[in-house]
Amino acid sequence: MSEGMLEGKLALVAGVANKRSIAWAIAQSLHGAGAKLAFTYQGDRLEDSVRKLAATVDSDVVIPCDVSDDASIDNAFEQLKQELGGLDVMAHSIAFAPAETFENRFVDTSRQAFLTALDVSAYSMIAMARRAEPLMAARGGGSMVSLTYMASERVFPKYNVMATAKAALECSIRYLAYELGESRIRVNAISAGPVRTLAAKGIPGFSEMESVIEQRSPLRQNIDSSDVGSAALFLCSPLAAMVTGTTLYVDSGYHAMGM
Ligand code: NAP
Repeated sequence: MSEGMLEGKLALVAGVANKRSIAWAIAQSLHGAGAKLAFTYQGDRLEDSVRKLAATVDSDVVIPCDVSDDASIDNAFEQLKQELGGLDVMAHSIAFAPAETFENRFVDTSRQAFLTALDVSAYSMIAMARRAEPLMAARGGGSMVSLTYMASERVFPKYNVMATAKAALECSIRYLAYELGESRIRVNAISAGPVRTLAAKGIPGFSEMESVIEQRSPLRQNIDSSDVGSAALFLCSPLAAMVTGTTLYVDSGYHAMGM
């Protein structure tokens, strides 16, 4: 159905750690629609596995980028410009908070842990958007999408400072959408239900989140990472031409529930 929808489009996918990553599901959807892909990964440890995955979607543009380091982001976008030649789509699927923040009381969040979580999980979207803007503007516009979670709006015990970071990310999406809209660049977020990934392993009570979705969400079923991939494709495609500054829930409708 979506075949060819992104033919000729150039897309950056940031945040593939392994085949369970939400970023990987997004990459597969974008590839299925005909986009040419580039990937960024954080450390040397991941390079081989990301390269192998990238090859299965016909990509050899695999670039290191640690989003907590400005020089690393600058180098990544410079290399991206040279190797991909431009940008139409950017998927930001990156987050990190120190492990202890998921165990300790929220009130005990240290200044350093707060800064790290907000830096990697929220500021990184602004930093990447700034570098992506000229590449997209030169092609007449583009679309950016990031990943968030509903703990930004309501309390999910133990999600703690990552929830604060997601609130900052969602707010940043709206401001980026406003400013970049002048260049016909759209910026949106997807608020995903729980998906079993590497990052999810660090969240206490994750299985409980899954069973609550099964019992109480309107669709009474957990989502799959491919559901997020499809939603990202929609947001990055001409079907969403006038959609920007919004958060799209891919959570079996759970966000609509009061109890
Ligand atoms: P994941 O596979 O572990 O992906 C997280 C990615 O962030 C990894 O590739 C990780 O690389 C990267 N990352 C962390 N610090 C980085 C840094 N300094 N520079 C560059 N990359 C960095 O887990 P995921 O669940 O797919 O997470 C993707 C996004 O979805 C996150 O924003 C997450 O909050 C969001 N989300 C997830 C769920 C869920 O239930 N899984 C639900 C809603 C939203 P390393 O492995 O090298 O650290």
